[in-house]
Amino acid sequence: MAGIYIHIPYCKQACYYCNFHFSTNTKSSPEMLQAILQEIEMRKHELNNQSIQTIYFGGGTPGILPSDDIKKIMHAIEDNFIVEKNIETTLEVNPDDMHPQKLKAYLDMGINRLSVGTQSFFEEDLQYMNRSHDAKAAARCVQEAQDTGFNNISVDLIYGFPLLTNEKWKQNINTALALQITHLSCYAMTVEARTALEKMIRTEKLPPINHAQSAEQFEWLMHAIEDAGWEHYEISNFAKPNHRAVHNTNYWLGKHYLGIGPSAHSFDGSSRSWNIVNNALFIKSIEEHILPSEKEILTLHQQINEYIMTSLRMSDGMQLQKIKPNVTTEEWQLFCEELEKNNALLNIPSNYQTNARAIITLNKKGKLYADKIAGDLFVG
Ligand code: SF4
Repeated sequence: MAGIYIHIPYCKQACYYCNFHFSTNTKSSPEMLQAILQEIEMRKHELNNQSIQTIYFGGGTPGILPSDDIKKIMHAIEDNFIVEKNIETTLEVNPDDMHPQKLKAYLDMGINRLSVGTQSFFEEDLQYMNRSHDAKAAARCVQEAQDTGFNNISVDLIYGFPLLTNEKWKQNINTALALQITHLSCYAMTVEARTALEKMIRTEKLPPINHAQSAEQFEWLMHAIEDAGWEHYEISNFAKPNHRAVHNTNYWLGKHYLGIGPSAHSFDGSSRSWNIVNNALFIKSIEEHILPSEKEILTLHQQINEYIMTSLRMSDGMQLQKIKPNVTTEEWQLFCEELEKNNALLNIPSNYQTNARAIITLNKKGKLYADKIAGDLFVG
């Protein structure tokens, strides 16, 4: 079973912190739609008849396109792949692009999960980030989507930026939970190279990120989620019981996926490929029937290290039986030494050396250092 990701590379305006691939000039969107439809056709044999279990429209802002464009892409996927019944089909939307007719059109074409880009329920935060919507839009969008019939809705929030006091962060979480949504993704604000935020901090127009504040807000978030009876199933992802994001979970489990559209990545179990990060060149290449992508075959060590990185981030944890048989005795010894060094940040069964089914997870403190711990454990 596999997933399909469709990258829609357009946004209404550029959020200051964002380093995803998008353009605010939508002039090429008709040609882009044709190119995406054509890429789907060109790659129809790549999944070797594996059926599709999830579809995910991301970006950019897929909700910026007319709903008919999304419908054409859905039809192309159904025409070219074996799509299972009642699968999770997610569309990322920004609240200001949504209205009841559009939401109804999505529901009718089979979209059954929305991911609503919210980030904060405070006006000044949205201005700080240069978001395109106002503070009331997200709650209105969620309500309209629920009235239309959507019952699986995720909201994205950002914490750890100077304007966001702990009190405001608590209010953001409580507001989101009160919306009766099923899933939350919460990300620490990071300052990415070549973003407006990076420039404004570098030139001292904005204060830098305070990492202690970010850690404090993450810790509060973990407790609030637990009190609400939700699952903290991945470092940045939280769900009501039985509402984990299937598509993203499959990424983390190393299942196969096909990424369509400029900048989209694909994975087939042992190799990764990625499409060109340029809208005009993507369209031109597809028009010439050439897939504009590069490919990397992962070594066994790279595959194990990816597993360490992703499995540690998940509450289901890292299964040692997926590591031990694939490394040398010396590598296993070094790995165990690093596990012991990080003992205070991990939940480690005492018999892990001899128990083939041992599973290692991060404890609450460890969740603050997931990437560093994974790096310590890397093999090879
Ligand atoms: S809407 Fe999303 S993809 Fe577009 S600029 Fe903002 S964060 Fe980036």
